[in-house]
Amino acid sequence: MECIFCAIVAGKIPAAKVYENDHVFAFMDIAPANPGHLLIIPKEHYRNIFDMPAEVGSKIMEAAVPLAASIREALNPDGLNLFQSNEAAGFQTVFHFHLHLIPRWDGDPLRLPWKPSEGDIEEIGQIAAKIREVL
Ligand code: 5GP
Ligand code: ZN
Repeated sequence: MECIFCAIVAGKIPAAKVYENDHVFAFMDIAPANPGHLLIIPKEHYRNIFDMPAEVGSKIMEAAVPLAASIREALNPDGLNLFQSNEAAGFQTVFHFHLHLIPRWDGDPLRLPWKPSEGDIEEIGQIAAKIREVL
């Protein structure tokens, strides 16, 4: 089955396009978490952050910064979240990399998906070392 986001880039299925350049495509999410929720995707197919070159990630962020400014100018939100999901365990449902831009308003219904509570400082340091080792 063809990737739904590749089909959007190819114009085979409709989407409310906001922006495109040679590398990326930005369009409105069909099930917005808040009004103005949009997605930025690479035009090339990458499953998620684990198989995407860092250069493509840079192209995504190069588009995200001015698009966030445009959302703010157009919709006057109180804030904005960047959100990005990888694999089912990380909430991913469409397996073509995408960055969510979600405008936020004071009192809106969105909630942080984790409960902040202080971690074990020693364990945090050990985990940091584990990641550094494989960089
Ligand atoms: P994920 O859950 O993978 O982080 O995000 C997938 C997003 O794609 C969801 O927010 C969902 O609403 C959106 N989406 C899924 N199918 C379509 C579609 O056909 N068109 C558009 N515009 N958005 C879609
Ligand atoms: Zn795709």
